[in-house]
Amino acid sequence: PLVLSDRINSMQESQTIAMAKKARALAAEGFDVINLSFGEPDFQTPQYIKDAAKEALDQGYTLYTPVPGYLELRQAICDKLQRENNLSYKPENVVVSTGAKQALVNVVMSLVNPGDEVIVFAPYWVSYEEMVKLAEGVPVPLVGSLENDFKVTAAELEAAITPRTRLIMYSSPCNPTGSVFSREELGAIAEVVARNPHVHVLADEIYEYINFVGEHVSIAQFDEIKDRVITVNGFSKGYAMTGWRVGYLVARKEIASACEKIQSQITSGTCSIAQRASLAALQGGRSSADEMVTAYHRRRDLVLELAKDIPGFRTPTPSGAFYVFPDVSGCFGKSTPEGQTISSAADLAMYLLNDAHVAAVDGGAFGAPACIRFSTAAADDKLREAFQRIKNSVSKLA
Ligand code: PLP
Repeated sequence: PLVLSDRINSMQESQTIAMAKKARALAAEGFDVINLSFGEPDFQTPQYIKDAAKEALDQGYTLYTPVPGYLELRQAICDKLQRENNLSYKPENVVVSTGAKQALVNVVMSLVNPGDEVIVFAPYWVSYEEMVKLAEGVPVPLVGSLENDFKVTAAELEAAITPRTRLIMYSSPCNPTGSVFSREELGAIAEVVARNPHVHVLADEIYEYINFVGEHVSIAQFDEIKDRVITVNGFSKGYAMTGWRVGYLVARKEIASACEKIQSQITSGTCSIAQRASLAALQGGRSSADEMVTAYHRRRDLVLELAKDIPGFRTPTPSGAFYVFPDVSGCFGKSTPEGQTISSAADLAMYLLNDAHVAAVDGGAFGAPACIRFSTAAADDKLREAFQRIKNSVSKLA
């Protein structure tokens, strides 16, 4: 018989990917399914970036690259960090990876020993917990309250830190809530970290450009903790480049070198052509991202308006990213016309898929079992249609 490792047996399949699979299966049966389960831009990669990839092929960028990425790309990342984030780093501090996802795993694997605690701000992105478990660490979800826009406060963090805490992880703008930490909030968190020299911070800034409130703050800007901050970013969201698989981390040299070492044994770095395309993306600045953000902003407002009078939904206003994350606990305890009781967000997500043919993701996957995540990265008319159907379906609950 096939016997798999305990490691893989204890790992959950990504629920966002599982939901997308179910939606595809229903669509294959001929149903008109609107899929709002995906965390993916519905835009194409800008043409100038595609052109750079074609050129890279013709110029012969087809062999192994340096493990941490082409020097020119790492330099361009340093220039970006200086220009946009007021952070000074050298190429030796940067490791380019196979998506931000691999950058995050590199860091967790480099810092976490078995039994170490990793405080994961919740609601969190689905993969954080599984990454920590892979490193045999102990994920400690720390839940931000709906009243505080789902954001963990410095006082809550301080109370959660123990002598075993090795790392804290969060995303801002946040997937799934769209919350954005302010300078003040991150400054208070940085003070807590400064008082706890055994704690490192993994800041996931992949949604940096998709921000409707304006100021993006990197916690690495707080000098007293800069040595213990690892910043992760990438090209997937801001440049609509999910399929190219390019992300990066920036950290003090010892940590960057450790991540390079892991990467040298596991992937040898990411695709040469995609790296050249990413260099062009950075050289083009952020104007293509700004156009997409205008659309995401409009759609957020549209969806908030549509969700406003769905009975049982409480939908906070996201400040960034491309999701809405309503608390749907007002629907719990009600019954579907078929007589099935809705007792969780997972039940409601399944009901919406089957009844409204709208795919969304149960908040339990993000450490928020009262919520459901809907992606707003879909065309305006699709969003209108989806939320009309959701409203009809939810109105049938009694
Ligand atoms: N971090 C967060 C918070 C995300 O939502 C995602 C993608 O959904 C990633 C990282 C992964 O990005 P990439 O596609 O660059 O690996």
